Amino acid sequence: VQVAVHIRPLIAQERIQGCKECVSVVPGEPQVQLGSHSFTFDHVYGGGGSSPSSIFDQCVRPLVEGLFQGYNATVLAYGQTGSGKTYTMGTGYTVGGSSEGVIPQVMNTLFSKINALKHKADFQVRVSFIEILKEEVHDLLDPNPPSTMKTDTANGGLLRVVPGKPPIQIRETGSGGIMLAGVTETEVRTLPEMAACLEQGSLCRATGSTNMNAQSSRSHAIFTINVEQRRKWDSFLNADTSSLPEDTGEDFLCAKLHLVDLAGSERAKRTKADGNRFKEGVHINRGLLALGNVISALGDDKKRKEGGHVPYRDSKLTRLLQDSLGGNSRTTMIACVSPADSNAEETLNTLKYANRARNIQNKPMVNRDPVVAEMQRMRQQLEVLQAELLCAQAATIPEEIQILKQKVTWLESNNLELRRELQQSAESYLVKNYLKRIQELELELLSVKSSNATDLSPEGEGDVEEEGEGEGDVDVDVVAAKELEHTMRQDCLDKELEELDKRLELKEAEMKAFARPDNVVLKQHFEKKLIELEDEKKTLQKERDALLKELEALATSSDEHAHKMQETYVQKLKDLERQIAELKKKQENQAQLLRQKQRSDEAAKRLQEDILRMKQQKASHFIVQLQNKIKQESEQFRAWKNAREKEVLQLRKEGRRNVYEMHKLQALHQRQKLVLQRKTEEAAVATRRLKDMLEASEAS
Ligand code: ADP
Ligand code: MG
Repeated sequence: VQVAVHIRPLIAQERIQGCKECVSVVPGEPQVQLGSHSFTFDHVYGGGGSSPSSIFDQCVRPLVEGLFQGYNATVLAYGQTGSGKTYTMGTGYTVGGSSEGVIPQVMNTLFSKINALKHKADFQVRVSFIEILKEEVHDLLDPNPPSTMKTDTANGGLLRVVPGKPPIQIRETGSGGIMLAGVTETEVRTLPEMAACLEQGSLCRATGSTNMNAQSSRSHAIFTINVEQRRKWDSFLNADTSSLPEDTGEDFLCAKLHLVDLAGSERAKRTKADGNRFKEGVHINRGLLALGNVISALGDDKKRKEGGHVPYRDSKLTRLLQDSLGGNSRTTMIACVSPADSNAEETLNTLKYANRARNIQNKPMVNRDPVVAEMQRMRQQLEVLQAELLCAQAATIPEEIQILKQKVTWLESNNLELRRELQQSAESYLVKNYLKRIQELELELLSVKSSNATDLSPEGEGDVEEEGEGEGDVDVDVVAAKELEHTMRQDCLDKELEELDKRLELKEAEMKAFARPDNVVLKQHFEKKLIELEDEKKTLQKERDALLKELEALATSSDEHAHKMQETYVQKLKDLERQIAELKKKQENQAQLLRQKQRSDEAAKRLQEDILRMKQQKASHFIVQLQNKIKQESEQFRAWKNAREKEVLQLRKEGRRNVYEMHKLQALHQRQKLVLQRKTEEAAVATRRLKDMLEASEAS
């Protein structure tokens, strides 16, 4: 809640009484000083502050502009009797009189704005003017005011029995807002019409106050302006939203502006001080007291945080202003004060209240009609359905089918690949079969040969021999066949291996191609293209929406020309739909390409992994082979060494045996030599004896 203070100059009466000014304003600051008290507000007008002529521009104009965006607003004048509330608000307006107050300026601004926006929207402006007197709501615009009002006021027990018209009731709407049931709402089209309403109400009020003298200050007057705007279709189609900044793009907006001229506050304050008159004060003017309580409850930081109770229901006034204070409204409060020192106490109270009101936090929001919102939603649904229908009519392929088609093409390509593989394997299978067949034929041939041999050979002993020979032949043939088969199989395997190598090479080359940097560029290109296509689609859809709306507008009017236009629009729409569908298709294709790329990336990754694995396998295989070889060789070597060692041992043994034998032979030789010597000696002795005997015999 924004709070401004309006300090009026001393009036003649106060001057006559010799009153002095006791309120001062800090120059250049929105700050008011009264004795030792100092208050800061959003604005201070008069009494040395800003010029009062800027009240409207600074405090009220933004609220009036907000009405066109769907925000409720309230301008509230508060202060003691004679402080200038009516003067500030301009509630006592007369046609041709001064247009200084807030309300006349509101009316001027409102209608100049409506005139400026006329080509874009239809406006409906309604006004109501009520007065709250002794907790009763009086309709100031009632064309047949009850006659009881002017007479039955003396005893204070004012009873309004209006035949044929129920009393005005305050009701809460479904969305939590407040409305007056049974109040006269006069529709106005022009500024003079509205001014007439205001004047009529003011006069009604004035009559009341002259009749009720002292209580006049206790009537609260609320002048309410209700603005509804409905956007025109052609303005929607032209869509020149740029020309008006306040265009919110809504179909329907409504907002109301309460202009409140409160009753004087001094009586309520006095009753507060005087216990005896307190009850009376509450009874007579519960509204102001309740308003003070509401402002206290809302303006107190502590109470607000605790989520304390706000006594809106204590009076009709607070109930009516529930939205304006702490609710869905932008609210400006203008506290009116008199600078005279005789009013110092009241002025201080007013400033205190106003200061508290500054702490109130409202929650304004855009007012949309729920029915209109629902209608808008349904309209959108209708558009979607129409678009679908058009799609079906133009026989454009629905998205699902398109997806299925893509799937089919993908499956077909897969199928082709698989078929190729199948052919390859079938070929290898054929070669194998062929080989088998050859073998079979060879075997057959052999059996035929052998049977021929048995047929030709004579029966008998030779049979066995012949058969033996035959078997030998078969053996030779089988070996030859096996050899042939072996070589052929080898060839086949070689071929397969070669094929594999070739495929591997191809894949490696492919992979290299993937890794090339321009591939990244390609990917980016695809993505960019996708985004472009998306944009194009969006603009086309927008165009289509616009056309649809135009179409609808045309559908409501029924002349010949409109029909023709409609047809052309339908044609255009169809074209657009087709374009959109094509774009969708393109987009899908691009997405497919991207997906394919991703797939091939994955394949490349897999391939790389395979290659790595194979290489690893190869390496491990090689190592195993090497190890085996080393083992084998070492084993061979060990065997060889063992054999050598064994041989050496054998030789050594043999050597030892030879030495021993030699020794044995030497000993034998020695012995034989000795025997020979002895025998020779014996022979010599014998010979000599013989000689001697011979000599003796000769001699004899
Ligand atoms: P309220 O409505 O608060 O009881 P009024 O608006 O009727 O008070 O003002 C009381 C008197 O003071 C009126 O005669 C009015 O002309 C005079 N007055 C109020 N404000 C000003 C002002 N700003 N400049 C000159 N006179 C003013
Ligand atoms: Mg007044």
